Amino acid sequence: MMENLVYKSTRGHGDPVSASYAIVHGIAEDGGLFVPDHLPKMDKTLEELLTMDYRALAYEVMKLYLPDFSEDELHYCIDRAYDDKFDTSKIVPLSHPGETHVLELFHGATLAFKDMALSVLPYLMTTAAHKQNLEEEIVILTATSGDTGKAALEGFANVSGVRIIVFYPKEGVSPIQKLQMVTQQGDNTHVVAIKGNFDDAQRSVKEIFTNPEEAVKMKNAGYMFSSANSINIGRLVPQIVYYYWGYLQMVRDQKVELGDSVNFCVPTGNFGNILAAHYAKSMGLPIGKLICASNSNNVLTDFFHTARYNSNRPFHITSSPSMDILVSSNLERLVYELCQGDGAKVQELMDSLRQRGSYILDLDPALLQEEFWADFADEEETAEAIRQMYTAYHYVMDPHTAVAYSVAEKYGKETGDARPMVIVSTASPYKFPASILAAIGVPAPKEEEALMEKMSEISDTTVPQRVRQVLGSQIRHHRVCEKDRVLAEVHDILGL
Ligand SMILES: *Cc1c(COP(=O)(O)O)cnc(C)c1O
Repeated sequence: MMENLVYKSTRGHGDPVSASYAIVHGIAEDGGLFVPDHLPKMDKTLEELLTMDYRALAYEVMKLYLPDFSEDELHYCIDRAYDDKFDTSKIVPLSHPGETHVLELFHGATLAFKDMALSVLPYLMTTAAHKQNLEEEIVILTATSGDTGKAALEGFANVSGVRIIVFYPKEGVSPIQKLQMVTQQGDNTHVVAIKGNFDDAQRSVKEIFTNPEEAVKMKNAGYMFSSANSINIGRLVPQIVYYYWGYLQMVRDQKVELGDSVNFCVPTGNFGNILAAHYAKSMGLPIGKLICASNSNNVLTDFFHTARYNSNRPFHITSSPSMDILVSSNLERLVYELCQGDGAKVQELMDSLRQRGSYILDLDPALLQEEFWADFADEEETAEAIRQMYTAYHYVMDPHTAVAYSVAEKYGKETGDARPMVIVSTASPYKFPASILAAIGVPAPKEEEALMEKMSEISDTTVPQRVRQVLGSQIRHHRVCEKDRVLAEVHDILGL
């Protein structure tokens, strides 16, 4: 049966739109996020899925959310995304250090899990633009906490009909993350450091998207804005795939029987990754609990305990910078479900978030906890997790993954839940060598290249080719802007 899945705004305004419209536009006109009008069910059995490779599996998942893409179009996008840009033909390997299961999402071009979606998004977007008969040049505006920026630049570099502008917090990313971005090649790429944090960058970018005067100005100049952030549904859908893959890999590795449930622990910032897990569960994948792991910026931990969202708190710069976020955009999609699709209610809550920095869901927190369990790891616990895993199994985790590991341990202790737990690993250790060496207690060389060699030595792995390239590349991007000058910077780049 073909269900006619369409997308609606979480804030209730406007007509339903097709998947390709939602991908091209990124965000709804009323400032809401596009959500599927229903969550589809997987139409293949787990036995059938078990025999598939990553691409075939990606097709089975993505077709359900992108019904206006033809079979050929989807295969075209998927085949070009998940190829030898990844350093393993499995695309996503599952490691088993000791009794732990680690789903390694960092084997793509930029060594972070953002590659899982951003390898395919450019193809989805250009295909969708073609279907929508767009004539404008697409300008991708992206706020990054470190990893999205590079993954999006890499994905969109030299894609014709598209320009990309990335804003990153000047003091909020690791040296290698910064180098990856400022050395980016491609005439259609622009990178700007903003004197503020990720939330400042994300807020400015969202404001530009939903500014009607700006949209007119852009259209007249032959441009339209879109987003490569996880507010774009084209980011979220490809992320559902690896939850299926991780589960099936657990079965193949004989860690569970087909049909038994598995828990996933997800290091969370903008709530995109774990929302994809929630969608996978809704599709019928046997997931038990979803563990939402935060760092010291633990606004989501409090949310799941109290049903109150309160971003009025100190902002901590941590060793897991991609999770240094106080306003988690994608939570709006879960809130929409919790409000039973009442767009007016969601609008009211998001207005409250904008005006007061907080909102209260009229809901018993116990309801949230049926599916989710949340906690956080502070800096000492994160370092301790890295040290422990290294000492016991010689396995090196990056700090984001370590946050998840630490929280997963707490979950096990507090609940006694004996179901297998998969730790979702979101970055390669080579992106955060200084924090890792400090955690393990190995003196860290100052110079980046020596740092990487040290990392290689202690982990018995070779320095990824991509890291070597970045270290030897020329810096091409020098722009810096004040946090309230993001729009002016965009105009300057586009020559308006
Ligand atoms: C983006 C990112 C996260 C957070 O993912 P969300 O989808 O924003 O919750 C965690 N770890 C790393 C390494 C990331 O790049």
